[in-house]
Amino acid sequence: MASQRQILLGAVPIGGGAPVAVQTMTKTETANLAATMSQIRTVAEAGADIVRVAVPREQDAEALKSIVAQSPIPVIADIHFNHTLALKAIEAGAHCVRLNPGNIGGPEKVAEVIALAKLRGTPLRVGVNSGSLPKHLRQLEYEDPVQALVTAAIETVELMERLDFQNFKVSMKSTSVPNTIASNRLLAERIPYPLHLGVTEAGTKWSGSLKSAVGLGTLLADGIGDTIRISLSTFHAEEEVKVAWEILKALKLRERGPVLIACPTCGRLQFDMDTVVAEVELRLEAYEDPIEVSVLGCAVNGIGEARHADFGITGAKDMGMIYSKGEPLKKVPTEQLVDELFKEIDRYYAAGRTIQRDETAAAEARAWLAENEDATAMTPERIAALEAAAAENDEMAGSVLESMLVGEGPVGGANPVAPAGSSGAAAEQPALGGNPVVLDESVSPVAGRRFSRN
Ligand code: SF4
Repeated sequence: MASQRQILLGAVPIGGGAPVAVQTMTKTETANLAATMSQIRTVAEAGADIVRVAVPREQDAEALKSIVAQSPIPVIADIHFNHTLALKAIEAGAHCVRLNPGNIGGPEKVAEVIALAKLRGTPLRVGVNSGSLPKHLRQLEYEDPVQALVTAAIETVELMERLDFQNFKVSMKSTSVPNTIASNRLLAERIPYPLHLGVTEAGTKWSGSLKSAVGLGTLLADGIGDTIRISLSTFHAEEEVKVAWEILKALKLRERGPVLIACPTCGRLQFDMDTVVAEVELRLEAYEDPIEVSVLGCAVNGIGEARHADFGITGAKDMGMIYSKGEPLKKVPTEQLVDELFKEIDRYYAAGRTIQRDETAAAEARAWLAENEDATAMTPERIAALEAAAAENDEMAGSVLESMLVGEGPVGGANPVAPAGSSGAAAEQPALGGNPVVLDESVSPVAGRRFSRN
């Protein structure tokens, strides 16, 4: 259901199967050239493909020419109420002009802007906001806000087509996540033009990121949406860009930089995970490769579900271990874990993306892991693996349980619980007499199986 048509914002293709573009908006006074350019460079560095600047005054339109000339990414001029500013923005070379035809002063003024946009080859972003729908749709908005939004958007598209203009993308902005999802799903079925997605006035960094992840993530997972903007109440526009990338990375729509995996922690946590994860996340920002780095709060699980990570660390009190692709590399004192992790990552790159393994250090780390691992512990990761196995089939679940009780891999298949390379250590674990793991069918017959100890 990706848009059929494609438009070009500078060199960035939008729609028609192009990668979903990340957009943000500067928070500076646009006419303040130094501040605006500084923020544009910051967001471009953070990964913005496109940037929008507000143009509410003459002096902002005048600054546009320099901004467009200096910006490393395409610039969209955001215009409301004043079609003269839209004309000036096009003349200034803006790569795109955003306007809502409903608030620009009537069809003649819209036609004037379109005529110049056609002449200069400038694409537009046209759209509607839930807060400013045309008067004739107010009753419908009251009865069915989704239909009202879609109707307004279709009317805008029809106006563009009557003016013989197809070089545009469409946005429908609502503060409601369900309405954003429902209206964009309907619109995507009805028009071939690229869609810009956003939840307007989403809120603070915390709540706004979540609302956007739910709303935009749902649509993107459906294949709907060609550009996205995360609207956050922060002066740091690069935060919007980071959130947008996390959504795209989570859906595997685009790759950018490392992927950090971190356990949620629990009562088994054995070192200062908060500080370590924050530091690892910060230092990973310096890397461009999509390597996967894992941080586990304890060694009880072994390497567990992080065995596919390119690099990882896990700790137990004053010592920790660095591993790669499920294999221990070395053990180090906890306070050196992060530094040593990044030394290993840098060694990997220096050697042409090859893991550098010292067999003596690796053997020490393996022994440390065997001492600290508990192959029978009911950790969140293992419970999840058991439930997944139970969902697959009872035989598999039985096999996994058996493996936990005797410390061996399940019969006839890969063990989803025991970490790779740990069967030797696990086999040394004593069987659990008197405290067996049991499948408790009574806990929730509908929500899935629960495993507990007697
Ligand atoms: S058991 Fe799992 S969630 Fe708990 S600290 Fe260890 S790795 Fe983290």
